[in-house]
Amino acid sequence: MLFIKKCRPVNLSPPEVFDDTVDILIEGGKIIKIGKNLSEEHDKAETIDAQGKIVTPGLVCSHNHFYSALARGIIASIKPATDFVSILRNLWWRLDRALDEQSLYHSGLIGALEAVKAGTTAVIDHNASPSFIRGSLKTLKRSFKDVGLRGILCYEVSCRNGEEEAEEGVQENISFTKERDNLVEASIGAHAPFTLTERILEMLTGAVKDTGRGIHIHVAEDSYDPSYSHHNYGKDPLERLEDFGLLNEKAIIAHGVHLTEKDIKLLNDSGGFLVHNVRSNMNNGVGYGGNLHELKNVAIGTDGIGSNMLEEMKFAFFKGNDQGAGLSPGNILDFLHNGNRILSEYFGEKFGRIGKDYKADLVIWDYDAPTPLVGDNLAGHFIFGMSSRDVETVIIDGAVVYKDRNFLFDTGPIYREASVAAEALWKRMDRIH
Ligand SMILES: [Zn+2]
Repeated sequence: MLFIKKCRPVNLSPPEVFDDTVDILIEGGKIIKIGKNLSEEHDKAETIDAQGKIVTPGLVCSHNHFYSALARGIIASIKPATDFVSILRNLWWRLDRALDEQSLYHSGLIGALEAVKAGTTAVIDHNASPSFIRGSLKTLKRSFKDVGLRGILCYEVSCRNGEEEAEEGVQENISFTKERDNLVEASIGAHAPFTLTERILEMLTGAVKDTGRGIHIHVAEDSYDPSYSHHNYGKDPLERLEDFGLLNEKAIIAHGVHLTEKDIKLLNDSGGFLVHNVRSNMNNGVGYGGNLHELKNVAIGTDGIGSNMLEEMKFAFFKGNDQGAGLSPGNILDFLHNGNRILSEYFGEKFGRIGKDYKADLVIWDYDAPTPLVGDNLAGHFIFGMSSRDVETVIIDGAVVYKDRNFLFDTGPIYREASVAAEALWKRMDRIH
């Protein structure tokens, strides 16, 4: 049992800021009671004094790649890339091939620690480690569990190294669905339509149907993907996925920068999610879709650039303004909130609100608002004021995983070991061409 004393709850969507302070009682991973002066009734519970602090639901990163966490500042011989596919070939498809069990675990640990420090309580991950496919998701799960982070994991199936490897990836996705628990769930991962044959798409469809999970895939990130699809199949990429029966309310479609009107309608009709990764799109120079206001379900991801959702949402807002996309701060806050709806689809529980029976994934912020903080201007505070430095305590599934800006264990050795693993990883990558 956990007890948060005298906090001021804030909900993101619809935006709501409580006028007064309340106490929150948590048991069995859920909020069981909210009210005034609950302390006398529950004085034996572990107590966090949150006087003067606000509490929000945890933030969700809806598309990430923890396997890339040790690529930061990479020193290796990497040929300059002039287009998106060359970026994949020269960097990412060599880095992922160099990953082994130990480096993937370290990569996952660093990714998880940095997520929690930024107030991110759940990460929807998309893993690629072609030299270590079988068992890779269990290894990643270990890094999530060791930090206490919530996640939905999958393996990125691709025919870029042949269909045999793709089949192993499908199997890894299917077997990992049996590993689900209160903290970690599974989706069915695939790289992108342009690296998937018809036969492997058929297998992925079987996996989605048999496991009751959704597909998690990059679509139309760069214009190469729709061009490839039109040239080889005479269809838009989402139309091709829809023809296989892969779009449903659990589908997680990353990027979608170059979706057509027809693609957007198919995705909206299916109830699936589009995950916007604005910093990655800018970094790779793949363009700006400008179609976000036409999509029903938009969430936000980082595509491997950390898990700081406040940074990501600020970029999403500023880039949107720069492009004349007509997105308000409130729209961006709704996008951020929608990650919780994906969690609800997969975990079958209530996420994303401070209310009775909702999952207790919460962030306590030490944010001094210099102006009134109310529901109507909450999104403005998120975009123009709050930052990850205000994250003080993080609770996931009812457990305190980060308290007063500290983990409950020493992270120093983890960072030192990760740095050693990173150097070894970069050397292995240098030998891969
Ligand atoms: Zn991605």
